[in-house]
Amino acid sequence: MSAEIVQVDILIVGSGPTGSSIALHLVQQDPKWAERMLIVDKAIHPRDKLCGGGITYLGENILTDLGLPFEPNNFSVREVQLRYADKSYSFYGNPVFRIVRRREFDHWLVQQAEARGVAVSQGEGVVGVEIRPNFVQVTTDKRTIQAQVLIAADGSRSFIRSRLKWDDDSRVARLIEVDTPEDPQQNWNFRDKVAVFDFTHMTNDLQGYYWDFPSYVDGVATMNRGVFDSRSRPEKSKADLKGVLRDSMAERARSLDDYKLKGAPIRWFDAKGQFSQPRVLLAGDAAGVDPLFGEGISFALAYGAPVAETVADAFARADFSFESYRKRLMSYSMFKQLRLRVAIARFAYKLNSPRIFRLGWTAARWVVARTPWRNPDYVPAKPLVQ
Ligand SMILES: Cc1cc2nc3c(=O)[nH]c(=O)nc-3n(C[C@H](O)[C@H](O)[C@H](O)COP(=O)(O)OP(=O)(O)OC[C@H]3O[C@@H](n4cnc5c(N)ncnc54)[C@H](O)[C@@H]3O)c2cc1C
Repeated sequence: MSAEIVQVDILIVGSGPTGSSIALHLVQQDPKWAERMLIVDKAIHPRDKLCGGGITYLGENILTDLGLPFEPNNFSVREVQLRYADKSYSFYGNPVFRIVRRREFDHWLVQQAEARGVAVSQGEGVVGVEIRPNFVQVTTDKRTIQAQVLIAADGSRSFIRSRLKWDDDSRVARLIEVDTPEDPQQNWNFRDKVAVFDFTHMTNDLQGYYWDFPSYVDGVATMNRGVFDSRSRPEKSKADLKGVLRDSMAERARSLDDYKLKGAPIRWFDAKGQFSQPRVLLAGDAAGVDPLFGEGISFALAYGAPVAETVADAFARADFSFESYRKRLMSYSMFKQLRLRVAIARFAYKLNSPRIFRLGWTAARWVVARTPWRNPDYVPAKPLVQ
């Protein structure tokens, strides 16, 4: 490590969708912010990130508001099938959502920030953080950085969160996944562009679902298959995720043992949680996302606008207490939705009676048939006007 000390106004740790979105929202607000901030990431893009890569119109709309057409390679899902045992119903759309490979999507977002003059130091990991009276001192494996404001966008295992003793690991969803190469001519998910969410195992302690996401990795048709366990009711016993994945894959004539199993957590949002302390803001997975479906990318992008607004306001008033950050977050419709999803997850994942499930399934099918999502030509994302 060199003895160099760098001073910046804003230091963003993490260049996933959260970090890039914050930077892009700041420069959209005023291009001069570009020279006042620095993003550091321990990884070098394009880097892998364990993720299904599903992005709904909620995330796409945020990119549209940033003036960014959706450029990264993606698989357009035209039907989402929700299943419970022998019952199922579908959402349709053009597309219902897109599936990206995170190494490409995150890299593209970083390039968008760099193109607007934002400095992104890749391959620089944060190893220490100390709050001083007039700045935050961050130590990386390369140098020391003194920042007026530190934004932790460093993911669900946030180093900053744990180093500043933010505690509370109860709000963590568990996810495991495998990638299976497929023949796109033989596989109906690819042919008909269908993603599946299968809730059958909810009666076996699982507070979530099994998923099948079709996608292309370097041109090869690849199914991303995984299990999401929200743990939004942490008092209940833990499901055997590997067993659920094994059984679900066996039903699809695949053996789990033939593939490399990977796992990672998602932190879920709690409106009563602590999102800031003086000079430090948490955002994205480090703060919390959706425990109902495990939708993290759209919500990671959604932190961009309120964080940019909070930071600009702090500099304008020279007040870095960040006392109003939570209130500002909750004033955005995406965070109202997040709060609602938490409440629904807590209720829905409490149910484990097959009879109630079947009733709920019939009701849900009836409701969907009365929404625009019954129409395969429905376009949920708003158009980009340039
Ligand atoms: C198995 C799995 C499947 C998922 N599937 C979906 C899905 O289909 N759709 C969806 O919407 N969401 C999904 N998610 C959730 C989604 O991946 C996350 O919510 C999203 O990545 C959060 O973005 P982020 O920018 O906050 O964090 P991240 O994307 O994790 O980025 C954090 C960045 O911080 C960097 N970093 C970490 N520590 C340090 C450090 N000490 N110093 C410097 N840099 C550091 C990392 O290198 C990384 O680049 C899934 C998650 C998992 C685990």
